[in-house]
Amino acid sequence: MTARILDGLKIRDQIFAELKGEIAAMTASGTRPGLAAVLVGDNPASQLYVKSKIAACEQLGIASWMHTPPATVSTREMLQLVDDLNGDPAVDGILIQLPLPPQVDTKLILESVDPAKDVDGFHPMNLGRLVSGRPGLVACTPAGCMELLKRGNIPIEGADAVVLGRSDIVGKPMSLLLMHANATVTICHSKTRDLPGTVRRADIIVAAMGKAGYVAADWIKPGAAVIDVGTNRVTDPAEAERLFRNMPERLEKFRAKNSALVGDVHPDAINVAGALTPVPGGVGPMTITMLMSNTVKAARLRRGLSATKRPQSSVTAR
Ligand code: NAP
Repeated sequence: MTARILDGLKIRDQIFAELKGEIAAMTASGTRPGLAAVLVGDNPASQLYVKSKIAACEQLGIASWMHTPPATVSTREMLQLVDDLNGDPAVDGILIQLPLPPQVDTKLILESVDPAKDVDGFHPMNLGRLVSGRPGLVACTPAGCMELLKRGNIPIEGADAVVLGRSDIVGKPMSLLLMHANATVTICHSKTRDLPGTVRRADIIVAAMGKAGYVAADWIKPGAAVIDVGTNRVTDPAEAERLFRNMPERLEKFRAKNSALVGDVHPDAINVAGALTPVPGGVGPMTITMLMSNTVKAARLRRGLSATKRPQSSVTAR
């Protein structure tokens, strides 16, 4: 069996097309959604992430602003900036690109963002809303995983779902979203006793551990749906050999670049799973997509407009 590919790029394009129409209509009626991004210092990876988020805003017609405090910024100065953005009526979403420099109290800054503008879904208020199944803004990566499952027509209700990883930004919210969608959810972490045995029972596997190719193909129940959140850069040739031993093309590509991006699930899983997200091109594109979607949602909620009828609006509610 070869798994059906859950194509994040295709689903991103679908959602972008839906958002574009919605944003144009909102803009025409005087409520253009707006996103403010805060990029501290000159970390090249952060610069790249913020650039692509701003580019997505421009593509969709969302207003965007970039604030670039220096790496020496203090917690007090950051609080002032967030306060200004909280008070700016044109700003619907505030994105604080992480990591912040060590002298800045990251938790305090994230908690100072107005929950109504918290498009990353990191504020405790939005996490609390998610726990109780009330509408709010949900962290982008897990929300994107739900879109992949729903738009990929993976049955969730009644399914046994296993989430590998319990971080605040991926594993925990993912587990809650699956539970609200009526899956029976098991959450695994580094102290889980029998990971292979637990994974083998799963109809849906969400892997978010940050361990290249850790989930072996023979842990996967034939036909299961696999959402691979892991994004790991492999540079060790022996590791590449282990991962791509049955994929000469990928091994060839690795040798040409001395590097490859792989998920937490071994690439051989494609021969066992029923459906699977590729890495790259699966969950990755969905994270920015859901940031855009959250910005539009925040704009609607803040301005008292009715909720959109797009499928992803059901992500938060039970
Ligand atoms: P994280 O905060 O480091 O959390 C990793 C989780 O995995 C922890 O809960 C940890 O358990 C668990 N874990 C680690 N090793 C394990 C093992 N051997 N067996 C079972 N569980 C294990 O990572 P994260 O921020 O959630 O990110 C996870 C991965 O997703 C990373 O590769 C990251 O790059 C990727 N990611 C991708 C996107 C995207 O847009 N595609 C977005 C976010 C994250 P403990 O809690 O016990 O330590």
